[in-house]
Amino acid sequence: ALATNNLEAFWMPFTANRQFKKNPRLFVGAKDMHYTTADGRQVLDGTAGLWCCNAGHGRPKITEAVQRQIAELDYAPAFQMGHPHAFELAARLTALMPSPIDHVFFTNSGSESVETALKMAIAYHRVRGEGARTRLIGRERGYHGVNFGGISVGGIVANRKMFGPLLAGVDHIRHTHDLSRNAWSRGQPENGAEYAEDLIRLVQLHDPSTIAAVIVEPVAGSTGVLIPPKGYLERLRAICDQHGILLIFDEVITGFGRLGSPFAVDHFGVTPDLVTTAKGITNGVIPMGAVFCTSQIHEAFMTGPEHLIEFFHGYTYSGHPVACAAGLGTLDTYEEEGLLTRGAELAGYWEDALHSLRDARHVIDVRNIGLIGAIELEPIAGEPTKRAFSAFLKAYDAGILIRTTGDIIAMSPPLIIEKHQIDQLVTTLRDVLQGLD
Ligand code: PMP
Repeated sequence: ALATNNLEAFWMPFTANRQFKKNPRLFVGAKDMHYTTADGRQVLDGTAGLWCCNAGHGRPKITEAVQRQIAELDYAPAFQMGHPHAFELAARLTALMPSPIDHVFFTNSGSESVETALKMAIAYHRVRGEGARTRLIGRERGYHGVNFGGISVGGIVANRKMFGPLLAGVDHIRHTHDLSRNAWSRGQPENGAEYAEDLIRLVQLHDPSTIAAVIVEPVAGSTGVLIPPKGYLERLRAICDQHGILLIFDEVITGFGRLGSPFAVDHFGVTPDLVTTAKGITNGVIPMGAVFCTSQIHEAFMTGPEHLIEFFHGYTYSGHPVACAAGLGTLDTYEEEGLLTRGAELAGYWEDALHSLRDARHVIDVRNIGLIGAIELEPIAGEPTKRAFSAFLKAYDAGILIRTTGDIIAMSPPLIIEKHQIDQLVTTLRDVLQGLD
């Protein structure tokens, strides 16, 4: 009954397509911490899908909210019209943020949130008469989705090189230290501020009054869980403040409890001007994203007559009723089960478990924060990514879902994970690594 003979028609994104077609890995069901495969096996979800199913799978409050909403109001135009759930969700979301951040703009994905935030930053300066501020600064190894703005500010050259010319006037903060050897993990130097000094180089290179915004992931997720040392984000904030530059945190992964607090904003105690989110906002159930902004930014656009907001941007599905219902069901689940802070309770156990792999075969670094972590492997000479990809395949066969980027294994389990399941992840991974070439 499985459509495995139709695989040719589906263009799988990115890597491993060929191997996939020879040996398809198909999920046909999911409940709580587990996926069910087409061949009837249970696979422990060590990645919350793609860092999005923070409350686990098949959660009744979310499913029921979605079903109810589809039956009641399937769609309402995003322009000129509204519906109550969008306002309710916006209010509940902003209540999770520190007070200067008090508005949200709904999108449908992380990539769209990034484009929206970049446009908002440039337009904010323009409506205030600072139209020269159009430059954007990202960071090496930053990932901000796949649309043109996102790949321009993103720091992954491979994602950019096919698609130029990209946005003009974009620079990237360099990593001025070795990231490949435990550089940003436990036991690292406390002097994080100096790592941020490369932003000064960029500010001096250009007239700072031409720079609109700096965008960073507080913890870079997709490129291998790179955790900033103490003082790093504070220093970025201070440099931006000094020069009137907006600071954007891309919290598409770090948001909704991943670091043990609702957002990285809380964890690091640094308040940016804009925050991009997606993924965990609906527990991955319905596509949705949101850009949070301060009242100052929101007010800047409210200069026209009452019905005219000077920010010409929005999507057909902005604030989609079904996505909003999923978002409300998700927040109910997170709040009733204390999931937005559960990562903090489990962080110590998670840390010890991951670091027990420091002496496992091929491991050269272990990084962790909240309920996210990375195990970096020594690459096979001349064959980068091969070892980690083999680990992924063997782990899948052994019943755990992990994710790899380069030669780094990343894990970000649903926040409902139990300790014995953390043990299972680590024990399985140790065996898998032991058996690798
Ligand atoms: N920003 C960050 C930090 C992300 O991790 C991602 C997705 N991994 C995105 C943006 C893009 O999100 P989406 O895939 O929903 O467009």
